[in-house]
Amino acid sequence: MSIDLRSDTVTRPSERMRRAMADAEVGDDVFREDPTAIRLEERAAELLGKEAALFVPSGTMGNQIALHLHGRPGCEVVCEAESHILLYELGAMAALSGLLPKPVAGEAGLLAPEDVEKAIAPEVVYRSRTALLSLENTHNMAGGTIYRRDRLASLLAVARRHELPVHLDGSRLFNAAVALDLPVAELAAGCDSVMIALSKGLGAPAGSLLAGSRPWIAEARRVRKMFGGAMRQVGVLAAPGLLALEEGPAALAADHRHARRLAEALAALPGWGIDLKRVETNIVIASPPGGDAYTFCRQASRAGVMAVPVSAEAVRFVTHRDVSSDDVDQAIQVIRTLRAC
Ligand SMILES: *Cc1c(COP(=O)(O)O)cnc(C)c1O
Repeated sequence: MSIDLRSDTVTRPSERMRRAMADAEVGDDVFREDPTAIRLEERAAELLGKEAALFVPSGTMGNQIALHLHGRPGCEVVCEAESHILLYELGAMAALSGLLPKPVAGEAGLLAPEDVEKAIAPEVVYRSRTALLSLENTHNMAGGTIYRRDRLASLLAVARRHELPVHLDGSRLFNAAVALDLPVAELAAGCDSVMIALSKGLGAPAGSLLAGSRPWIAEARRVRKMFGGAMRQVGVLAAPGLLALEEGPAALAADHRHARRLAEALAALPGWGIDLKRVETNIVIASPPGGDAYTFCRQASRAGVMAVPVSAEAVRFVTHRDVSSDDVDQAIQVIRTLRAC
């Protein structure tokens, strides 16, 4: 059996989740008759400190519904230059909503308020309008880095001054909350919309949630239908989602320790390039000796350790609940021997 460090999306539903799926009370969710989906949405809203939430099939759909509602065709979305909404959603903001990204390079994925300020278009007749500010916490491609409350507060202040809505891509917001030992609602506070993924570190087989004000979520429900994301007896997916919300966060601290251990082991090996300061949660991005990420991933995979190249030089390892402490030790052993051959 390979040790799969490609992503925290690879987690399999636990036995408890499987049982919850089998036992879920269901109904037609388009008619709002699925009690399990309703319970999941209410619980998510409560945890995120928002009025309402909507269960969506994927994080991408959650983000795209939010962008669609906050923007208008021809408007710009201020986002980080390596953000998921820009690089890994296939141009959906342009294709589905006529929106234009306005990428701003962050440091370790984190935007500086003064750079955001500069990226916001002035209100003149020949400039497209800035529609919103989108933030990603934790930042995937920067290696799971965290926006802390002070930085968030200053970014929110810039947005407020320009009357811009703020969307939070909180695919891994629970990782940030666990790392900072804060309730997740504190990291979502002040954002007009927030998306969280159930199917990453929290361990559910599928699904994400989008949260915001009650009238905004009512609109989001319409856009979800338009984008083809309304499902029927979806309680079978909401049931493991509820377990993911209740039991998932407590398991994340172990993932963070495992990522740290892996990162420190790599840093101690000759030839590896890694910035240990960035390893704050469950993601490790590092450059293998020789600088060829594709060759490393091919060799590691043959030796039973799976990771993904995120560029020609950099490899991403993600720890998750299906990777044990022993698995991490074994992965480190394998990577050491690869170096030797
Ligand atoms: C995975 C991810 C998403 C999208 O999630 P899918 O469910 O795969 O569509 C969005 N944002 C970030 C930061 C992610 O890591």
